[in-house]
Amino acid sequence: MAGEPQADCLFCKIVSGDVPATVVRTSDTTVAFRDINPQAPTHVLVIPKAHYPDAGALAAAEPLIAADVLREAAAVAADEGNADTGYRIVFNTGSGAGQTVFHAHAHVLGGRGLNWPPG
Ligand code: 5GP
Repeated sequence: MAGEPQADCLFCKIVSGDVPATVVRTSDTTVAFRDINPQAPTHVLVIPKAHYPDAGALAAAEPLIAADVLREAAAVAADEGNADTGYRIVFNTGSGAGQTVFHAHAHVLGGRGLNWPPG
């Protein structure tokens, strides 16, 4: 069923605690944890606890939870001291865009200059 945990999903296992992660924030609907391979001084992933394969699917099925992910991403940036210097929220969507884990997640990147356009 849509939103239910998937046995083969890494991020569902982080939500359940079966895979450890450095969690920095939680809410009723989301978990935020440090990326295992950080690309910036701040590199935190914000995920919905419910399983949806990407941000578009999440927004279509659960727009309020999609908004929770954005709110928590901004809160992470503030917690990390990036609110004034600037930060980036990225949703890689589809393998062609670099998505490797098919459980919706926002990357929160900050703490260094960020170039545009991204690679
Ligand atoms: P994507 O490429 O799907 O946009 O992002 C997936 C992110 O998950 C990558 O930045 C990758 O480093 C991170 N990642 C992959 N495996 C793990 C893990 O086991 N723990 C944590 N904390 N991050 C992971």
